Amino acid sequence: MKTVLNYINGAQVEGGGKLFDKFYPASGELLLKVSFAAEQDCDNAIAAASESFKKWAVTPPGQRAAVLRKAAQLMRERLDVLAEVEVLDTGKPLREARADDVVSAIDCLEYMSAQAATVHAQQYDLGENMAYTRHEPLGVCVGIGAWNYPIQLIAWKAAPCLAAGNSMVFKPSEMTPSNAVLFAEILSEAGLPPGVFNVVQGDGQVGRYLAEHPQVAKVSFTGSVASGLKVAASTAQMMKKTTLELGGKSPLIIFADAEIDVAVEAALCSNFSSQGENCCNGTRVFVQASIYDEFCEKVAKATKALKVGNPMDLETEIGSLISPQHRDSVCSYIESGVQQGATLLVGGGVYVVEGLEGGSFVFPTVFCDCTDEMDIVREEIFGPVMSILKFETEEEVLARANDTLFGLAAGVFTQDISRALRMTKNLEAGVCWTNTYNVVPAELPFGGYKNSGLGRENGAYALKEYTQVKSVYIQVERPSFPFKCVK
Ligand code: NAD
Repeated sequence: MKTVLNYINGAQVEGGGKLFDKFYPASGELLLKVSFAAEQDCDNAIAAASESFKKWAVTPPGQRAAVLRKAAQLMRERLDVLAEVEVLDTGKPLREARADDVVSAIDCLEYMSAQAATVHAQQYDLGENMAYTRHEPLGVCVGIGAWNYPIQLIAWKAAPCLAAGNSMVFKPSEMTPSNAVLFAEILSEAGLPPGVFNVVQGDGQVGRYLAEHPQVAKVSFTGSVASGLKVAASTAQMMKKTTLELGGKSPLIIFADAEIDVAVEAALCSNFSSQGENCCNGTRVFVQASIYDEFCEKVAKATKALKVGNPMDLETEIGSLISPQHRDSVCSYIESGVQQGATLLVGGGVYVVEGLEGGSFVFPTVFCDCTDEMDIVREEIFGPVMSILKFETEEEVLARANDTLFGLAAGVFTQDISRALRMTKNLEAGVCWTNTYNVVPAELPFGGYKNSGLGRENGAYALKEYTQVKSVYIQVERPSFPFKCVK
């Protein structure tokens, strides 16, 4: 049986921690073992990152860019392998892993390679004197990933981090350990010096050790709000820079003037992509009263037609949830929806795929007649469960959409440009889409308001998050101090 190792200072190494069983979500079979890092391995990875940082930080940005560009090219050549590994780790459909996840990682590497050389200073004329700024890398950064978009999350953290001249120790989720090591190997093959990007395997305890480590300058974390709060508490002890990409319960708002078929497709995409295990998903679908019945009918019909099945089959649209425990949690939310009075339109629980009886499939589930207080409407389920709610006016839906502790994303469907502008201005969310959903180009900053996070990934903002600004003041004329030298 294969064991997934750590990647420290340019080589795969066994960890001193336990061997963790990793199961294939779609079959429930033992897939591989994961060699967890012990504290000493974490120390070694951080020491390697710290040592390599000295040279990488002063490597000309153009050279750093060339490494990232080459890595993107290698990933493109190996897209099929990376996508299959992603499916084995997550259980998501291969067609998504190929078209979205790996491509998003490649796009980010390419974008950040182009950005690398654009980190530039400002110069200030101050009378006879002058000053300028330097945007300096931070040092050793830690990346900690969730299990739902493993390869994308690695690239979204590593690409800006390395482009800005930092080094990184990355810890993938223990549930999805594999592509981090392949990614590290690709970076090495592309010319990244040993130690600049390292991978340590492990669970939350390993993540916590890394976040608290005194030699770490920054932590970029993706995961649940509960873990994010713990990470923030850890990093606050040493005032480390911290980026948090956390959960969501995003509103998708459909006005009566929207193109209804497009809105139906968006609702499916924003609830069932990655079998609902997507932080941005628009799981609170608000529909204006006059089109509510027609919308529900169309969504129900389209949902029933979705193909749930073997994730490796390119026809499959809905794969397996990550684990039986998570499937059970999703199913208990579905039960609570029924108990709290929502109307179950489609789905309703576990789905058995022939030949993959040990998998964790849940048929895409749609509730209508939902109310704002229901658990399925308030809490992040992180599974294929859509809640449809009725609204009458723009003011009403805006208030209800914002009545949540989360603020990751939002979507508005309308043909009225003024209304779209008003809504997107007033929605409390880090990303607002109009007449589309779940589009995350590398150029656009990504991150949450409120409990959904801190800081931004992607875009030029991400690079800023991996640098600190130094102001350098140059005195040209003799300065005049209030204290005088006595001859
Ligand atoms: P999780 O919080 O359980 O785990 C995330 C990562 O944190 C894992 O690598 C885990 O080992 C580690 N971890 C756990 N406790 C830690 C601690 N105290 N200190 C340091 N590290 C710790 O989340 P998950 O179940 O893997 O992922 C699902 C969650 O992630 C959902 O809430 C989802 O919305 C969120 N998510 C957010 C984004 C985003 O960009 N906003 C993207 C993907 C997933």
